Amino acid sequence: MKFGGTSLADATAIKNAAAIVEQFHKGNRIAVVASAMNDTTDHLIKLGELAQKGQLWEAKNLLSRIQAAHLNATKSFAGTKTNHLASKELLGKVNALLSSLERSVEGIGQLRELTLRSRDYLLSFGERLSVPILTTALAQKGLKAQAFTGSDAGIVTDNNFGEAKPLAEISTHQIQQRLGPLLEAGGLPVVTGFIAQNTDGNTTTLGRGGSDYTASLIGAALKADEVWIWTDVDGLMTADPHVVKDAVTLSNVSFGEALELSYFGAKMMHPRALQPAARHKIPVRIRNSSKPTFEGTLVSADQSMNNGKVAKAISIIKDVGIITISGASMMGAPGVAAKIFQTLGINGVNVVMISQGSSEATISCVIARKDVDRAVRSLQLSLMGQGDVEKVTEEKDACVIAVVGSGMKGSPGVAARVFTAVAKKNVNVRMIAQGTSEYNISFVVSDVDGPETVRALHDEFQLGSKNQSS
Ligand code: ADP
Ligand code: ASP
Ligand code: MG
Repeated sequence: MKFGGTSLADATAIKNAAAIVEQFHKGNRIAVVASAMNDTTDHLIKLGELAQKGQLWEAKNLLSRIQAAHLNATKSFAGTKTNHLASKELLGKVNALLSSLERSVEGIGQLRELTLRSRDYLLSFGERLSVPILTTALAQKGLKAQAFTGSDAGIVTDNNFGEAKPLAEISTHQIQQRLGPLLEAGGLPVVTGFIAQNTDGNTTTLGRGGSDYTASLIGAALKADEVWIWTDVDGLMTADPHVVKDAVTLSNVSFGEALELSYFGAKMMHPRALQPAARHKIPVRIRNSSKPTFEGTLVSADQSMNNGKVAKAISIIKDVGIITISGASMMGAPGVAAKIFQTLGINGVNVVMISQGSSEATISCVIARKDVDRAVRSLQLSLMGQGDVEKVTEEKDACVIAVVGSGMKGSPGVAARVFTAVAKKNVNVRMIAQGTSEYNISFVVSDVDGPETVRALHDEFQLGSKNQSS
């Protein structure tokens, strides 16, 4: 069971999470994975940036907020009312972590340097703080809960700080060795999501939303019957319920569809999260921690659950930009595309979408907005002045919309329906791509048009609650 940040937002939420584990622990063996409390990771990112820029006053303020949130939660478990040994240890542990966090921020502030590696170390405090608190909440319910960091649990990654990839074989082996005996003995491992270690013992993170990945990795290693992801919505829905009011929960989704949705669903899940579970055909359930009786969404290897729908869900990735590389003589020049992607790869820029016109005079890529400046600078440095590439341009105000569903495969006319619906709203489409899986059609529109485009497509494919019986 993995609990997301929203399901661990404060002491009340943490108690609720502990009650869920207690309820399902009867008759089952459970390993727990926890995210950082609420938006702690966002705050830590901001904290690092402020310290690096030398804005120490702002950094101190933000640090105080992080400290207060964690101490508040801690106090409701470590209060004077209880003499529970774990409770006493908790306050000491949380205070030690908070002091260590403070020293790290001071260090970044002094050096004015924040590398991907030190950033991962900074971000690790979120999960390292939430796990002891949740573990104590579970111990107070009489469960034999034991805290682990991702690396204590055996997860080893490559050196790609910020987006590190677990080394599957060694991690699987170590997870089995380290968590297996505790589970056998009726114990309850509580593991930090998102963070791990490389082979040199340096802290790494698996990328934003990486706790889902941790959960699926541990579930696969332990050959779990199911992986449950507790979050703040009813499951995977036909669209982000914060954008489309009448979005409905999908009761069944295949791994292929969920992968497209998570990749294109921005916040919902880490794109690689389902891989380990999918490979071992372990069903994943996404459930609402404030409605523990609701079944949620079952993600499984079963492909046959279309409910007759062509498209199943519409999603949106916000905060992206487009970079376009152009030059008349790029036409027919071999190796330009290779050079472009090599340059982006070396600079750690993840490419969300690619398109090249058949004239070959331009290649466009969609990347995260935060990476646009770095990508443009590095492409200019490596490509210009060598003949083929004349210009590298950028547009920062973009978002990607994706229409997802396995029923689209081999079904003609879907693209026409998509773009007719978009055109009716007078929305300009800047770039289009269709994956060969045919599980999705995705395209780029400007930021301001995003939400309205999602709603128009949600209506076009009759995905809302008013069409549920059709
Ligand atoms: P957690 O903290 O539990 O990891 P996240 O914030 O990462 O939760 O993901 C849950 C959020 O994902 C929801 O609050 C919702 O706004 C967003 N979301 C985006 N697309 C979808 C979708 N298709 N179905 C459900 N939620 C979605
Ligand atoms: N805390 C991390 C994040 O916010 C990991 C996660 O929540 O899955 O990205
Ligand atoms: Mg998440």
